[in-house]
Amino acid sequence: MNAREIPPGRFAERDDTDIGQHIYALASRLFPICRSITGNGVRDTLGILQEYVGLERHEVPTGTQAFDWTVPREWNIRNAYVKDASGRKVIDLAESSLHVMSYSTNVARTMPLDELKTHIHTLPEQPDLIPYKTAYYTEEWGLCMSHNRFLALEDGDYEVLIDTEKTDGHLSYGEYFHPGTTDREVLFSAHICHPSLANDNCSGLSVLAFIAQALKGRDTRYGYRFLFAPGTIGSLTWLSRNEDRLDRIDHGLVVSCVGDAGGPNYKRSRRGNAFIDRAVASVLCDGRKPNMLDFSPYGYDERQFCSPGFNLPVGLLQRSVFGTFPEYHTSADNLDFIRPQHLGASHRMVMDIIDVLENDWVPFNLYGKGEPQLGRRGLYSKIGGHTSTGMTIMSYLWVLNLADGEHSLLDIAERSGMPFSAIARAAQLLKESGLLSDVTAGEAKS
Ligand code: ZN
Repeated sequence: MNAREIPPGRFAERDDTDIGQHIYALASRLFPICRSITGNGVRDTLGILQEYVGLERHEVPTGTQAFDWTVPREWNIRNAYVKDASGRKVIDLAESSLHVMSYSTNVARTMPLDELKTHIHTLPEQPDLIPYKTAYYTEEWGLCMSHNRFLALEDGDYEVLIDTEKTDGHLSYGEYFHPGTTDREVLFSAHICHPSLANDNCSGLSVLAFIAQALKGRDTRYGYRFLFAPGTIGSLTWLSRNEDRLDRIDHGLVVSCVGDAGGPNYKRSRRGNAFIDRAVASVLCDGRKPNMLDFSPYGYDERQFCSPGFNLPVGLLQRSVFGTFPEYHTSADNLDFIRPQHLGASHRMVMDIIDVLENDWVPFNLYGKGEPQLGRRGLYSKIGGHTSTGMTIMSYLWVLNLADGEHSLLDIAERSGMPFSAIARAAQLLKESGLLSDVTAGEAKS
């Protein structure tokens, strides 16, 4: 028997639809909200998340410096529509929050079609979809619509209303902390700044909210910090206000686009071989075909966490990779594109990653001269009860052989090609049988 004969990965065996349905229900509540990098859409979103986790909410004033960036004026939108000459609405914010370019300036006047057209964004190659556009740091107005409806606009005058406001206000973000038994921390982060985009926003927020909930009542050695902040300016603001505490972060994960059927894909931290990179690889390789991507300085907030002045061990977990799926940043990234079972599976991936972070230790084989007799200690019979971990006799043999005090359980999982869970369970049983000591805990090597 060899390591390749382990049962198929646990991912194939378990059904995540139940938890996935709860996550999906939360994503569905968040979906319609017109979010941007500041404003009441962010606050409304944090308010809903707060029903699930006891968030601490922060409001940072306009003009606050965050390294090379400045918190912008707060943007809020009340209403937006375009009416043709007959008074029929050809664009209506109430139909989709994507119709107005984020941070669009105010407009309230009638104009000819030719002028209106210069402010409308479409996707000619995906003519049924509404694009997602932003103009955070410029003064312009814009509307988004499907190319087919754009082509159907008839000559004439149009009444355009974009009732927005940019005022000195605040940037809002939310933070939840689950304390551990040590002062070491794990950072989880999801952006909160996109309007009605289900995968590229609501999925990450919802999965992380349920991860935070799952940790409640659980004793962990790490503290788990959840950050729900607008992309770029939000993470920069958070970093600038927490700079003196960043050395506590041992591991981190940005979570986005985790509700679709693709992937999983993991983008390594800038360090490339951080423990989180190895832990994720170990979990995702268990019964799946993950795509492990090297770090690149484009993407979500790992760009900021992994900038050279911080170089935090933070990777990016996704199903489909941002920018590569046709639904990305369009109205097709909707509640049909994400599914409960995919959200549930993503939730489990993160929980399994947490298991690796929590349960890694360095074993030492107290009977290293030859193999100890496992049968005499009843260890064979214990395998049967733990088939869900993929445990086999090989788990025992790998742990015993590499338990020289120099290899952690993750090292052993990597070297053996076996699931971390199987190695961790075997090590636990061997320790309970008196065959291993725990070097990590300061137990003697002999
Ligand atoms: Zn996006």
